[in-house]
Amino acid sequence: DVPQSSSQASPGPACLTSLLFPLAGNLHDGAEQKVVFITGRIHPGETPSSFVCQGIIDFLVSHHPIAQVLRDHLVFKIAPMLNPDGVYLGNYRCSLMGFDLNRHWLDPSPWAHPTLYGVKQLIIQMHNDPKTSLEFYIDIHAHSTMMNGFMYGNIFEDEEKFQRQAVFPKLLCQNAEDFSFSSTSFNRDAVKAGTGRRFLGGLLDHTSYCYTLEVSFFSYIIGGTTATVPYTEEACILSRAACTCGRDQGPRPGGPHVSPG
Ligand SMILES: [Zn+2]
Repeated sequence: DVPQSSSQASPGPACLTSLLFPLAGNLHDGAEQKVVFITGRIHPGETPSSFVCQGIIDFLVSHHPIAQVLRDHLVFKIAPMLNPDGVYLGNYRCSLMGFDLNRHWLDPSPWAHPTLYGVKQLIIQMHNDPKTSLEFYIDIHAHSTMMNGFMYGNIFEDEEKFQRQAVFPKLLCQNAEDFSFSSTSFNRDAVKAGTGRRFLGGLLDHTSYCYTLEVSFFSYIIGGTTATVPYTEEACILSRAACTCGRDQGPRPGGPHVSPG
């Protein structure tokens, strides 16, 4: 019973198409919806972001037993392309109007940053809905100088929370040969304050996890060797591992345990 993707109009003036998995019928009536929100391609030149996003979608709609478990327990909301005008124009980083959208999460304008405005409204709506729990936010990018896949996360004063959000990238490192935990870093640089990861890290509740997932434009090095393996459109290793690790993340403190089945 592979779900069909369905189009969903976003709030706000943006004509934004997001994919909704699974179909509402897969969830129990009245149950709290646990949501994983994934965005991609806010920077139009970062084509590997789309390949990883495509890999995640392909995996989630597949017959793989882990994909079926994920669909049974979680709602995946995916906005695969946050900067379609920039992509259409062949821009490297900016939208049609010349904005780096990933510096405008704090106060997006419906006129100047419509896709960002629409996605932010949707996320805030979910955040305010007592029947929805936004568990993960992952924004997919590509990196022009670093190798491998890696993540950026947030820094918190609360040591326990800080340690807890390091678990997902550690799991990725164990499950994906191209993912590097040593290149993963946690920061709160002023220059990154307008990014999705930083803004949502401050907005969402204590048990939500927000990351930027970066994948090299070029290649990855397998641990213990010096050989570089070029990334290709078909190589979705990271995507599959990201989904698998979501299953292994374990229970939220105080939350119900989700059995991997
Ligand atoms: Zn980027």
